[in-house]
Amino acid sequence: LLAPQAIFGAGRPNSQGFDLSDEGTLARIENARSCAIPDAEPLTVSAPTGTRVPVVNPANRELVAHVLEADAATVARAIEDARIWDAPAAERAAVLRRAADLYEAEFGPIFATLAREAGKILPDAVGELREAVDFLRYYAAEGEAATNAPRGIITAISPWNFPLAIFTGQIAAALMAGNAVLAKPAEQTPLIAAIAVRLLHQAGVPASALQLLPGQGGTVGAALTSDARIKGVVFTGSTETAQIIARAMADHMEPGTPLIAETGGLNAMIVDSTALPEQAVRDIVASSFRSAGQRCSALRCLYVQEDIAPHLIAMIKGAMDELRVGDPWSLATDVGPVIDAEAQDGIEGYTDANAGRILHRVWAPKQGHYIAPVLLKVSGIKDMDREVFGPVLHVATFRADQLERVIADINARGYGLTFGLHTRIDSRVQEVSEAIHAGNIYVNRNQIGAVVGSQPFGGEGLSGTGPKAGGPLYLARFFAPEPVPAGT
Ligand code: GLU
Repeated sequence: LLAPQAIFGAGRPNSQGFDLSDEGTLARIENARSCAIPDAEPLTVSAPTGTRVPVVNPANRELVAHVLEADAATVARAIEDARIWDAPAAERAAVLRRAADLYEAEFGPIFATLAREAGKILPDAVGELREAVDFLRYYAAEGEAATNAPRGIITAISPWNFPLAIFTGQIAAALMAGNAVLAKPAEQTPLIAAIAVRLLHQAGVPASALQLLPGQGGTVGAALTSDARIKGVVFTGSTETAQIIARAMADHMEPGTPLIAETGGLNAMIVDSTALPEQAVRDIVASSFRSAGQRCSALRCLYVQEDIAPHLIAMIKGAMDELRVGDPWSLATDVGPVIDAEAQDGIEGYTDANAGRILHRVWAPKQGHYIAPVLLKVSGIKDMDREVFGPVLHVATFRADQLERVIADINARGYGLTFGLHTRIDSRVQEVSEAIHAGNIYVNRNQIGAVVGSQPFGGEGLSGTGPKAGGPLYLARFFAPEPVPAGT
Protein backbone atom coordinates (compact mmCIF):
# COMPACT_ATOMS: atom_id res chain seq x y z
CA LEU A 1 0.00 0.00 0.00
CA LEU A 2 1.06 3.55 -0.69
CA ALA A 3 1.59 5.94 2.15
CA PRO A 4 -1.64 7.90 2.62
CA GLN A 5 0.00 11.23 1.91
CA ALA A 6 1.73 10.11 -1.29
CA ILE A 7 1.45 12.96 -3.70
CA PHE A 8 2.47 12.66 -7.31
CA GLY A 9 3.68 15.69 -9.15
CA ALA A 10 3.50 17.91 -6.09
CA GLY A 11 4.14 21.51 -7.06
CA ARG A 12 6.93 23.69 -5.80
CA PRO A 13 6.02 27.26 -4.95
CA ASN A 14 7.62 29.67 -7.39
CA SER A 15 6.49 33.14 -6.43
CA GLN A 16 7.10 34.14 -2.83
CA GLY A 17 3.39 34.29 -2.20
CA PHE A 18 1.68 36.40 0.40
CA ASP A 19 1.42 35.36 3.98
CA LEU A 20 -2.17 35.91 5.06
CA SER A 21 -1.11 35.49 8.69
CA ASP A 22 1.42 38.34 8.47
CA GLU A 23 0.04 41.51 10.08
CA GLY A 24 1.78 43.93 7.73
CA THR A 25 0.43 42.11 4.69
CA LEU A 26 -3.04 41.94 6.20
CA ALA A 27 -2.97 45.66 6.99
CA ARG A 28 -2.08 46.46 3.38
CA ILE A 29 -4.82 44.16 2.15
CA GLU A 30 -7.32 45.81 4.51
CA ASN A 31 -6.28 49.25 3.22
CA ALA A 32 -6.88 48.09 -0.33
CA ARG A 33 -10.37 46.85 0.49
CA SER A 34 -12.12 50.06 -0.42
CA CYS A 35 -9.54 51.55 -2.78
CA ALA A 36 -10.97 53.21 -5.87
CA ILE A 37 -10.80 50.87 -8.83
CA PRO A 38 -10.07 52.87 -11.98
CA ASP A 39 -12.30 52.74 -15.04
CA ALA A 40 -10.91 50.67 -17.89
CA GLU A 41 -10.66 51.49 -21.56
CA PRO A 42 -8.97 49.98 -24.57
CA LEU A 43 -5.22 50.48 -24.18
CA THR A 44 -4.47 51.03 -27.83
CA VAL A 45 -1.93 53.03 -29.82
CA SER A 46 -4.67 55.15 -31.44
CA ALA A 47 -7.33 56.85 -29.32
CA PRO A 48 -10.12 54.33 -28.68
CA THR A 49 -13.86 54.70 -29.23
CA GLY A 50 -16.72 52.51 -28.04
CA THR A 51 -19.50 52.14 -25.54
CA ARG A 52 -19.19 52.84 -21.83
CA VAL A 53 -20.73 50.06 -19.72
CA PRO A 54 -20.85 49.39 -15.96
CA VAL A 55 -18.94 46.54 -14.29
CA VAL A 56 -20.78 45.18 -11.24
CA ASN A 57 -19.66 43.24 -8.18
CA PRO A 58 -21.05 39.67 -8.29
CA ALA A 59 -21.23 39.54 -4.48
CA ASN A 60 -23.55 42.52 -3.99
CA ARG A 61 -24.30 43.89 -7.47
CA GLU A 62 -22.72 47.23 -6.59
CA LEU A 63 -21.06 49.26 -9.32
CA VAL A 64 -17.28 48.65 -9.33
CA ALA A 65 -16.26 50.93 -12.22
CA HIS A 66 -16.97 51.46 -15.92
CA VAL A 67 -15.32 50.04 -19.00
CA LEU A 68 -15.21 51.53 -22.48
CA GLU A 69 -15.87 48.53 -24.70
CA ALA A 70 -14.00 48.76 -28.00
CA ASP A 71 -16.01 49.21 -31.19
CA ALA A 72 -15.16 47.72 -34.60
CA ALA A 73 -13.19 50.84 -35.68
CA THR A 74 -10.97 50.62 -32.58
CA VAL A 75 -10.20 46.96 -33.28
CA ALA A 76 -9.40 47.74 -36.92
CA ARG A 77 -6.97 50.52 -35.90
CA ALA A 78 -5.36 48.28 -33.28
CA ILE A 79 -4.63 45.62 -35.92
CA GLU A 80 -3.05 48.29 -38.15
CA ASP A 81 -0.99 49.74 -35.31
CA ALA A 82 0.28 46.39 -34.00
CA ARG A 83 4.06 45.84 -34.31
CA ILE A 84 6.10 42.81 -33.33
CA TRP A 85 8.40 43.36 -30.37
CA ASP A 86 11.84 43.23 -31.98
CA ALA A 87 13.99 43.71 -28.87
CA PRO A 88 16.51 40.90 -28.16
CA ALA A 89 15.02 37.95 -26.28
CA ALA A 90 17.11 38.70 -23.18
CA GLU A 91 15.64 42.21 -23.05
CA ARG A 92 12.09 40.90 -23.43
CA ALA A 93 12.76 38.46 -20.59
CA ALA A 94 14.05 41.28 -18.39
CA VAL A 95 10.90 43.31 -19.06
CA LEU A 96 8.62 40.38 -18.20
CA ARG A 97 10.55 39.84 -14.96
CA ARG A 98 10.17 43.53 -14.15
CA ALA A 99 6.44 43.16 -14.77
CA ALA A 100 6.35 40.20 -12.35
CA ASP A 101 7.94 42.39 -9.67
CA LEU A 102 5.41 45.17 -10.35
CA TYR A 103 2.51 42.69 -10.08
CA GLU A 104 3.80 41.54 -6.69
CA ALA A 105 4.28 45.10 -5.47
CA GLU A 106 0.71 46.01 -6.48
CA PHE A 107 -0.92 43.15 -4.61
CA GLY A 108 -3.39 45.32 -2.68
CA PRO A 109 -5.22 46.85 -5.65
CA ILE A 110 -4.94 43.53 -7.51
CA PHE A 111 -6.62 41.56 -4.70
CA ALA A 112 -9.29 44.24 -4.31
CA THR A 113 -10.08 44.15 -8.03
CA LEU A 114 -10.13 40.33 -8.13
CA ALA A 115 -12.51 40.30 -5.17
CA ARG A 116 -14.83 43.04 -6.36
CA GLU A 117 -14.89 42.41 -10.08
CA ALA A 118 -14.57 38.59 -10.15
CA GLY A 119 -15.87 37.62 -6.68
CA LYS A 120 -12.57 35.92 -5.80
CA ILE A 121 -12.08 34.97 -2.17
CA LEU A 122 -8.73 36.11 -0.79
CA PRO A 123 -6.91 32.75 -0.87
CA ASP A 124 -7.95 32.37 -4.51
CA ALA A 125 -6.79 35.92 -5.26
CA VAL A 126 -3.44 35.07 -3.69
CA GLY A 127 -3.19 31.90 -5.78
CA GLU A 128 -4.13 33.79 -8.90
CA LEU A 129 -1.54 36.52 -8.44
CA ARG A 130 1.13 33.91 -7.74
CA GLU A 131 0.21 32.01 -10.87
CA ALA A 132 0.35 35.17 -12.99
CA VAL A 133 3.78 36.03 -11.60
CA ASP A 134 4.93 32.45 -12.16
CA PHE A 135 3.85 32.59 -15.82
CA LEU A 136 5.82 35.81 -16.37
CA ARG A 137 9.00 34.43 -14.80
CA TYR A 138 8.62 30.95 -16.29
CA TYR A 139 8.21 32.06 -19.91
CA ALA A 140 10.96 34.64 -19.42
CA ALA A 141 13.31 31.84 -18.35
CA GLU A 142 12.13 29.50 -21.10
CA GLY A 143 12.58 32.06 -23.87
CA GLU A 144 15.47 34.29 -22.92
CA ALA A 145 17.99 32.42 -25.06
CA ALA A 146 15.63 31.87 -28.01
CA THR A 147 16.67 33.09 -31.45
CA ASN A 148 13.57 32.07 -33.41
CA ALA A 149 11.35 34.56 -35.21
CA PRO A 150 7.87 35.47 -33.95
CA ARG A 151 4.70 34.63 -35.87
CA GLY A 152 3.41 38.21 -36.03
CA ILE A 153 0.16 39.40 -34.48
CA ILE A 154 -1.40 37.04 -31.93
CA THR A 155 -4.95 37.32 -30.59
CA ALA A 156 -5.32 36.36 -26.92
CA ILE A 157 -8.86 35.69 -25.64
CA SER A 158 -9.03 34.93 -21.94
CA PRO A 159 -11.69 33.78 -19.44
CA TRP A 160 -13.23 35.48 -16.41
CA ASN A 161 -12.41 32.60 -14.01
CA PHE A 162 -8.67 33.34 -14.05
CA PRO A 163 -8.86 36.94 -15.25
CA LEU A 164 -5.31 37.73 -14.15
CA ALA A 165 -3.43 34.41 -14.30
CA ILE A 166 -4.62 33.03 -17.63
CA PHE A 167 -4.81 36.52 -19.14
CA THR A 168 -1.18 37.10 -18.17
CA GLY A 169 0.00 33.61 -19.13
CA GLN A 170 -1.29 33.88 -22.69
CA ILE A 171 0.19 37.35 -23.15
CA ALA A 172 3.52 36.53 -21.52
CA ALA A 173 4.12 33.54 -23.81
CA ALA A 174 3.14 35.43 -26.97
CA LEU A 175 5.27 38.45 -26.02
CA MET A 176 8.24 36.37 -24.96
CA ALA A 177 8.29 34.96 -28.48
CA GLY A 178 8.43 38.54 -29.80
CA ASN A 179 4.90 38.74 -31.17
CA ALA A 180 2.48 41.66 -31.12
CA VAL A 181 -0.50 40.83 -28.90
CA LEU A 182 -4.09 41.96 -29.16
CA ALA A 183 -5.69 40.92 -25.86
CA LYS A 184 -9.43 40.59 -25.42
CA PRO A 185 -10.36 39.93 -21.79
CA ALA A 186 -13.67 38.31 -20.82
CA GLU A 187 -16.61 40.76 -20.84
CA GLN A 188 -17.01 40.29 -17.07
CA THR A 189 -13.42 41.13 -16.08
CA PRO A 190 -11.94 44.07 -18.02
CA LEU A 191 -10.79 46.00 -14.93
CA ILE A 192 -8.13 43.56 -13.72
CA ALA A 193 -6.99 43.15 -17.34
CA ALA A 194 -6.46 46.90 -17.63
CA ILE A 195 -4.40 46.92 -14.42
CA ALA A 196 -2.25 44.08 -15.79
CA VAL A 197 -1.65 45.73 -19.15
CA ARG A 198 -0.75 49.06 -17.50
CA LEU A 199 1.85 47.22 -15.39
CA LEU A 200 3.23 45.40 -18.44
CA HIS A 201 3.54 48.71 -20.29
CA GLN A 202 5.15 50.30 -17.24
CA ALA A 203 7.67 47.44 -17.15
CA GLY A 204 8.69 48.26 -20.71
CA VAL A 205 6.44 46.33 -23.12
CA PRO A 206 5.96 48.70 -26.10
CA ALA A 207 2.41 50.01 -26.58
CA SER A 208 2.38 48.70 -30.17
CA ALA A 209 3.33 45.17 -29.00
CA LEU A 210 0.51 44.87 -26.49
CA GLN A 211 -2.90 46.44 -26.94
CA LEU A 212 -5.92 45.74 -24.75
CA LEU A 213 -9.31 45.46 -26.41
CA PRO A 214 -12.09 44.96 -23.86
CA GLY A 215 -15.46 44.34 -25.45
CA GLN A 216 -18.01 41.85 -26.64
CA GLY A 217 -17.23 38.47 -28.18
CA GLY A 218 -19.56 39.24 -31.09
CA THR A 219 -17.65 42.39 -32.07
CA VAL A 220 -14.11 42.37 -30.66
CA GLY A 221 -13.71 38.59 -30.47
CA ALA A 222 -15.18 38.05 -33.93
CA ALA A 223 -12.97 40.74 -35.52
CA LEU A 224 -9.83 39.36 -33.87
CA THR A 225 -10.45 35.82 -35.09
CA SER A 226 -11.39 36.55 -38.71
CA ASP A 227 -8.57 38.69 -40.09
CA ALA A 228 -5.77 37.29 -42.24
CA ARG A 229 -3.24 39.64 -40.59
CA ILE A 230 -3.62 37.66 -37.34
CA LYS A 231 -1.07 34.82 -37.24
CA GLY A 232 -2.28 32.86 -34.23
CA VAL A 233 -5.06 32.73 -31.63
CA VAL A 234 -4.69 31.64 -28.03
CA PHE A 235 -8.00 31.02 -26.29
CA THR A 236 -9.26 29.71 -22.96
CA GLY A 237 -12.99 29.28 -22.49
CA SER A 238 -15.83 27.01 -23.49
CA THR A 239 -15.56 24.20 -26.03
CA GLU A 240 -18.45 25.79 -27.99
CA THR A 241 -16.66 29.15 -28.31
CA ALA A 242 -13.46 27.37 -29.37
CA GLN A 243 -15.43 25.69 -32.15
CA ILE A 244 -16.83 29.06 -33.31
CA ILE A 245 -13.31 30.50 -33.33
CA ALA A 246 -11.92 27.52 -35.24
CA ARG A 247 -14.59 27.95 -37.93
CA ALA A 248 -13.96 31.72 -38.23
CA MET A 249 -10.22 31.11 -38.51
CA ALA A 250 -10.70 28.44 -41.17
CA ASP A 251 -12.83 30.86 -43.22
CA HIS A 252 -10.62 33.95 -42.93
CA MET A 253 -7.06 33.13 -41.97
CA GLU A 254 -4.09 31.50 -43.64
CA PRO A 255 -4.19 27.71 -43.50
CA GLY A 256 -2.08 26.48 -40.64
CA THR A 257 -2.69 29.49 -38.39
CA PRO A 258 -2.55 27.92 -34.94
CA LEU A 259 -5.42 27.91 -32.45
CA ILE A 260 -4.08 27.14 -28.99
CA ALA A 261 -7.22 26.37 -27.00
CA GLU A 262 -7.89 25.31 -23.43
CA THR A 263 -11.55 24.46 -23.03
CA GLY A 264 -14.04 22.64 -20.86
CA GLY A 265 -14.06 19.34 -19.05
CA LEU A 266 -16.27 16.80 -17.35
CA ASN A 267 -13.66 15.85 -14.80
CA ALA A 268 -13.98 12.71 -12.73
CA MET A 269 -12.38 11.27 -9.63
CA ILE A 270 -12.32 7.63 -8.58
CA VAL A 271 -12.09 6.76 -4.90
CA ASP A 272 -11.61 3.08 -4.18
CA SER A 273 -12.14 1.25 -0.91
CA THR A 274 -8.46 1.46 0.06
CA ALA A 275 -8.46 5.28 0.03
CA LEU A 276 -7.95 7.18 3.25
CA PRO A 277 -11.41 8.73 3.79
CA GLU A 278 -10.29 11.88 5.65
CA GLN A 279 -7.81 12.76 2.95
CA ALA A 280 -10.20 11.88 0.11
CA VAL A 281 -12.99 14.03 1.56
CA ARG A 282 -10.71 17.04 1.99
CA ASP A 283 -9.54 16.71 -1.61
CA ILE A 284 -13.06 16.09 -2.98
CA VAL A 285 -14.41 19.22 -1.29
CA ALA A 286 -11.47 21.35 -2.46
CA SER A 287 -11.70 20.01 -6.01
CA SER A 288 -15.45 20.60 -6.26
CA PHE A 289 -16.13 23.76 -4.30
CA ARG A 290 -12.96 25.88 -4.23
CA SER A 291 -13.39 28.91 -6.48
CA ALA A 292 -17.14 28.15 -6.27
CA GLY A 293 -16.50 25.29 -8.71
CA GLN A 294 -15.56 27.80 -11.41
CA ARG A 295 -12.40 26.09 -12.59
CA CYS A 296 -12.20 24.04 -15.72
CA SER A 297 -10.09 21.63 -13.66
CA ALA A 298 -12.83 21.18 -11.01
CA LEU A 299 -14.22 17.79 -10.04
CA ARG A 300 -17.68 17.24 -11.53
CA CYS A 301 -18.33 13.50 -11.17
CA LEU A 302 -17.08 11.48 -8.23
CA TYR A 303 -17.08 7.67 -8.36
CA VAL A 304 -16.93 6.00 -4.95
CA GLN A 305 -16.52 2.25 -4.47
CA GLU A 306 -19.77 0.85 -3.12
CA ASP A 307 -18.29 -0.68 0.06
CA ILE A 308 -17.24 2.70 1.47
CA ALA A 309 -19.87 4.90 -0.19
CA PRO A 310 -22.34 5.38 2.71
CA HIS A 311 -19.53 6.35 5.06
CA LEU A 312 -17.70 8.57 2.58
CA ILE A 313 -20.85 10.36 1.41
CA ALA A 314 -21.84 11.05 5.02
CA MET A 315 -18.40 12.57 5.55
CA ILE A 316 -18.71 14.70 2.40
CA LYS A 317 -22.06 16.03 3.64
CA GLY A 318 -20.47 16.89 6.97
CA ALA A 319 -17.58 18.67 5.28
CA MET A 320 -20.03 20.60 3.07
CA ASP A 321 -21.85 21.80 6.18
CA GLU A 322 -18.60 23.38 7.32
CA LEU A 323 -18.27 25.48 4.16
CA ARG A 324 -18.96 29.18 4.58
CA VAL A 325 -20.51 30.80 1.54
CA GLY A 326 -20.42 34.58 1.40
CA ASP A 327 -18.36 37.78 1.38
CA PRO A 328 -15.20 37.19 -0.71
CA TRP A 329 -13.21 39.64 1.39
CA SER A 330 -13.73 37.77 4.69
CA LEU A 331 -10.94 35.36 5.56
CA ALA A 332 -13.57 32.99 6.98
CA THR A 333 -15.18 32.52 3.56
CA ASP A 334 -14.65 29.29 1.61
CA VAL A 335 -17.00 29.83 -1.31
CA GLY A 336 -17.64 33.21 -2.95
CA PRO A 337 -20.27 34.16 -5.53
CA VAL A 338 -20.49 32.86 -9.06
CA ILE A 339 -19.57 35.36 -11.73
CA ASP A 340 -22.92 36.87 -12.76
CA ALA A 341 -26.70 36.56 -12.95
CA GLU A 342 -26.55 34.47 -16.11
CA ALA A 343 -24.23 31.94 -14.46
CA GLN A 344 -26.43 31.86 -11.36
CA ASP A 345 -29.60 31.32 -13.40
CA GLY A 346 -27.99 28.57 -15.46
CA ILE A 347 -26.74 26.65 -12.41
CA GLU A 348 -30.01 27.09 -10.52
CA GLY A 349 -31.94 25.96 -13.59
CA TYR A 350 -29.82 22.82 -13.68
CA THR A 351 -30.23 21.98 -9.99
CA ASP A 352 -34.00 22.71 -10.19
CA ALA A 353 -34.29 20.34 -13.14
CA ASN A 354 -32.37 17.72 -11.15
CA ALA A 355 -34.03 18.38 -7.79
CA GLY A 356 -34.92 14.72 -7.40
CA ARG A 357 -31.23 13.84 -7.36
CA ILE A 358 -30.16 16.20 -4.59
CA LEU A 359 -28.46 14.37 -1.72
CA HIS A 360 -27.30 17.46 0.14
CA ARG A 361 -27.24 21.23 -0.14
CA VAL A 362 -25.83 23.88 2.18
CA TRP A 363 -26.79 27.45 2.97
CA ALA A 364 -25.91 30.46 0.84
CA PRO A 365 -26.83 34.17 1.15
CA LYS A 366 -29.90 35.19 -0.84
CA GLN A 367 -28.50 38.58 -1.92
CA GLY A 368 -25.80 38.47 -4.61
CA HIS A 369 -24.94 35.76 -7.11
CA TYR A 370 -24.38 32.96 -4.60
CA ILE A 371 -24.98 29.28 -5.21
CA ALA A 372 -25.22 26.88 -2.28
CA PRO A 373 -22.79 23.97 -2.81
CA VAL A 374 -24.83 20.93 -3.74
CA LEU A 375 -24.31 17.18 -4.03
CA LEU A 376 -26.33 15.24 -6.63
CA LYS A 377 -26.70 11.48 -6.99
CA VAL A 378 -26.14 10.06 -10.48
CA SER A 379 -25.64 6.57 -11.83
CA GLY A 380 -22.55 7.77 -13.70
CA ILE A 381 -21.05 10.46 -15.90
CA LYS A 382 -23.47 9.41 -18.65
CA ASP A 383 -26.29 11.08 -16.67
CA MET A 384 -24.61 14.47 -16.95
CA ASP A 385 -25.67 16.35 -20.04
CA ARG A 386 -23.12 19.17 -19.76
CA GLU A 387 -20.38 20.81 -17.73
CA VAL A 388 -22.06 22.81 -14.96
CA PHE A 389 -19.59 25.57 -14.10
CA GLY A 390 -20.33 26.02 -10.41
CA PRO A 391 -20.28 24.34 -6.97
CA VAL A 392 -22.23 21.26 -8.07
CA LEU A 393 -20.80 17.81 -7.40
CA HIS A 394 -22.25 14.58 -8.80
CA VAL A 395 -21.59 11.29 -7.06
CA ALA A 396 -21.94 7.74 -8.36
CA THR A 397 -20.99 4.40 -6.86
CA PHE A 398 -19.30 1.40 -8.47
CA ARG A 399 -18.56 -2.21 -7.55
CA ALA A 400 -14.99 -3.46 -7.53
CA ASP A 401 -15.59 -5.44 -10.74
CA GLN A 402 -16.92 -2.34 -12.56
CA LEU A 403 -13.75 -0.25 -12.55
CA GLU A 404 -13.01 -0.83 -16.24
CA ARG A 405 -16.55 0.15 -17.18
CA VAL A 406 -16.26 3.36 -15.15
CA ILE A 407 -13.03 4.29 -16.95
CA ALA A 408 -14.59 3.51 -20.33
CA ASP A 409 -17.61 5.70 -19.47
CA ILE A 410 -15.37 8.61 -18.44
CA ASN A 411 -13.29 8.34 -21.61
CA ALA A 412 -16.39 8.00 -23.77
CA ARG A 413 -17.46 11.58 -22.96
CA GLY A 414 -14.60 12.82 -25.13
CA TYR A 415 -13.23 15.40 -22.73
CA GLY A 416 -9.85 14.94 -21.09
CA LEU A 417 -8.74 17.69 -18.78
CA THR A 418 -8.19 16.60 -15.17
CA PHE A 419 -8.72 13.32 -13.39
CA GLY A 420 -8.32 12.36 -9.73
CA LEU A 421 -7.62 8.99 -8.14
CA HIS A 422 -7.62 8.09 -4.48
CA THR A 423 -6.21 4.63 -3.82
CA ARG A 424 -3.45 3.00 -1.88
CA ILE A 425 -2.99 0.13 -4.32
CA ASP A 426 0.30 0.87 -6.06
CA SER A 427 -0.42 -1.09 -9.25
CA ARG A 428 -3.82 0.59 -9.63
CA VAL A 429 -2.20 4.01 -9.93
CA GLN A 430 -0.31 2.86 -13.00
CA GLU A 431 -3.22 0.96 -14.54
CA VAL A 432 -5.79 3.70 -14.14
CA SER A 433 -3.42 6.52 -15.17
CA GLU A 434 -2.61 4.67 -18.37
CA ALA A 435 -6.24 3.93 -19.17
CA ILE A 436 -7.71 7.38 -18.49
CA HIS A 437 -7.55 10.02 -21.22
CA ALA A 438 -6.78 13.22 -19.34
CA GLY A 439 -4.13 15.91 -19.53
CA ASN A 440 -3.60 16.22 -15.78
CA ILE A 441 -3.92 13.20 -13.51
CA TYR A 442 -3.70 13.71 -9.76
CA VAL A 443 -3.24 10.86 -7.29
CA ASN A 444 -4.15 11.10 -3.60
CA ARG A 445 -4.54 14.86 -3.70
CA ASN A 446 -6.99 17.43 -5.06
CA GLN A 447 -7.22 17.96 -8.80
CA ILE A 448 -7.06 21.75 -9.03
CA GLY A 449 -4.36 24.40 -8.91
CA ALA A 450 -1.72 23.17 -11.33
CA VAL A 451 1.59 24.89 -10.56
CA VAL A 452 3.38 26.64 -13.43
CA GLY A 453 6.57 24.87 -14.40
CA SER A 454 5.95 21.74 -12.32
CA GLN A 455 2.49 20.73 -13.48
CA PRO A 456 1.97 21.87 -17.08
CA PHE A 457 -1.79 22.26 -17.50
CA GLY A 458 -3.95 21.29 -20.46
CA GLY A 459 -6.25 18.64 -21.83
CA GLU A 460 -6.95 16.46 -24.78
CA GLY A 461 -9.99 15.67 -26.91
CA LEU A 462 -12.80 18.22 -26.42
CA SER A 463 -10.78 19.83 -23.62
CA GLY A 464 -8.14 21.50 -25.72
CA THR A 465 -5.58 21.53 -28.47
CA GLY A 466 -2.43 21.43 -26.34
CA PRO A 467 0.46 22.24 -25.76
CA LYS A 468 0.12 22.60 -22.02
CA ALA A 469 0.33 26.04 -20.43
CA GLY A 470 3.19 26.46 -17.99
CA GLY A 471 5.11 23.62 -19.64
CA PRO A 472 8.22 23.40 -21.81
CA LEU A 473 6.39 22.94 -25.13
CA TYR A 474 4.07 25.94 -24.85
CA LEU A 475 6.35 28.77 -25.92
CA ALA A 476 7.46 26.96 -29.10
CA ARG A 477 3.95 27.35 -30.56
CA PHE A 478 4.31 31.13 -30.56
CA PHE A 479 7.36 31.19 -32.80
CA ALA A 480 7.12 31.09 -36.59
CA PRO A 481 7.76 27.55 -37.86
CA GLU A 482 10.26 28.73 -40.52
CA PRO A 483 12.86 31.49 -40.18
CA VAL A 484 11.55 34.69 -41.79
CA PRO A 485 13.64 35.41 -44.93
CA ALA A 486 15.87 38.47 -44.63
CA GLY A 487 14.34 41.75 -45.80
CA THR A 488 10.75 41.00 -44.95
N1 GLU B 1 -5.12 25.96 -14.08
C1 GLU B 1 -6.26 25.90 -13.24
C2 GLU B 1 -6.18 24.74 -12.28
O1 GLU B 1 -5.27 23.94 -12.38
C3 GLU B 1 -7.55 25.80 -14.01
C4 GLU B 1 -7.63 26.71 -15.18
C5 GLU B 1 -9.05 26.97 -15.63
O2 GLU B 1 -10.02 26.78 -14.91
O3 GLU B 1 -9.17 27.47 -16.78
O4 GLU B 1 -7.03 24.62 -11.43
